[in-house]
Amino acid sequence: MSSVAVAGRTGEWLESPGFGVYVHIPFCTHRCHYCDFNTYSGMEDQYEVYVEALVADILRWEGPAPMASSVFFGGGTPTLLPVGSLARILTAVRDRFGCAPDAEITIEANPEGTGEKVFAGLLDAGFNRVSFGVQSLVPSVLTGLGRMHSPATALRAIAAARAAGFDDVNADLIYGSPWESTSDWRVSLEGIVEAEPNHVSAYALTIEEGTPLATLVATGRVPDVDPDLQADRHGTAEELLGAAGLERYEISNWARPGRACRHNVLYWSAGDYAGFGAGAHGHVAGRRSWRRRLPRDFVAGVDAGTSTEAGAEVLDADARCGEAFMLGLRLASGLDLAGMGRRYGAEPLATRMPVVQELTSRGLMEWEGSCLRIAPSATMVAGDICARLL
Ligand code: SF4
Repeated sequence: MSSVAVAGRTGEWLESPGFGVYVHIPFCTHRCHYCDFNTYSGMEDQYEVYVEALVADILRWEGPAPMASSVFFGGGTPTLLPVGSLARILTAVRDRFGCAPDAEITIEANPEGTGEKVFAGLLDAGFNRVSFGVQSLVPSVLTGLGRMHSPATALRAIAAARAAGFDDVNADLIYGSPWESTSDWRVSLEGIVEAEPNHVSAYALTIEEGTPLATLVATGRVPDVDPDLQADRHGTAEELLGAAGLERYEISNWARPGRACRHNVLYWSAGDYAGFGAGAHGHVAGRRSWRRRLPRDFVAGVDAGTSTEAGAEVLDADARCGEAFMLGLRLASGLDLAGMGRRYGAEPLATRMPVVQELTSRGLMEWEGSCLRIAPSATMVAGDICARLL
C-alpha cells in the first residue's frame, strides 16, 4: 500500500476511480456540540441488532458488484462496535463485492476507548487505514467543541495505532472555532506534525442548523465563526503542514506523497460507490440513492425483507457532469476535461465553457495541460466557483 503508483493515492482526479463501499455506523457515546451527522447516543442495546441488519443488507445487494478498490467505515464512531462485529461486516463486504488486493480499507475512530489491542484486532480483520477525530490539541478548544478526549489521549491513540502496525493514519482537525486563538491553532498543527500521521484533514468549523452550537450562536452566548479568520487559519495549515512534507491535494486535505485517501478521491472524482447503513448514500452509474435515516427504520426494513432505500434519483449526463465539476474542482490537480468528455460527452462540457473562460480570464481558474483547476489564490472561494459550474 505504500507505492505512489496506486490509483487514487496520488490525490489526482481519476477518470476511472474504481468502486467504493461505504458503511455507516450511527453510534456515538455522546453528541459533540457542533455535530449534525446521522449518529445517536445511548443506543448500546441496539448495536448487535444493527450489525445483523447491516450484514444482511450487504449480502442481499442486487446492484452491480465490482470488486471494491476502497471501503470506508464511517459514522458516528465505528470503533464503538466490538472488533468481531466490525470484522463480520467487512467479511460481508468481501463476500458480496470482493476487495482488490491493494484496496484501501479505512475505519474512523475516536481517540478515547481505543488502544493497541483494538488496533491489532482491526489490522487482523483487514482494515489498513485509521482516521482519528482529533479536532484540536488544546484542552479549552476540545471542551468548547464538546469533545470528550484530551490532547494526550489523541496523541496516545495515534501512537498506539502506529505501534500496532497501521501505516496509514489520518488526523481530522477543526479550525476557526470561537474558542480557538491563532496560537491555539499553531499548537494543534505543530502537535499533529510531531505525531507524524501521513494524512491530515483540516476543516473550518461550520455552524449547522439544529445543533447545540447553533443555539449558542443564535442566542448570542457564543460568537459566530469569522470567514476571514478561518481563511487565515487555512493559510497557517498550508504553511505548517506543507513545511512538514504534507502536500495539500484537496481544499481541506493534506498527505505525504502517495498517501492521499483513495476513497475520498473516488468521491471527488465522481466515482461509483455503494452505501450501507442508516442514512448512507450511494451513487452507481448516475443513480443516486439514500437509505432510511433512523437506525430502527433501517433495521425494520431488513427484518421485513423490504428495501432499506428511502429514496433515489437518476441524473442525466448534464447533471452528472455538473456534479463532477463541483466535486473534482476541490482537488488541487483539478479535473481532466478530456476524461470528462469521454465520460459525459461533449455537450455538457460545451455548455460550461463560457463560464470556464470567464473564470480563467479573471485568474480564478487555470489550466495545466487538459486539466482545469482552481487557482491556488482562489482556494477560499472554491465553493462559489464550483457552484457556477454545477
Ligand atoms: S464523535 Fe464525530 S460523529 Fe460522533 S457526535 Fe462527535 S462529531 Fe459527531
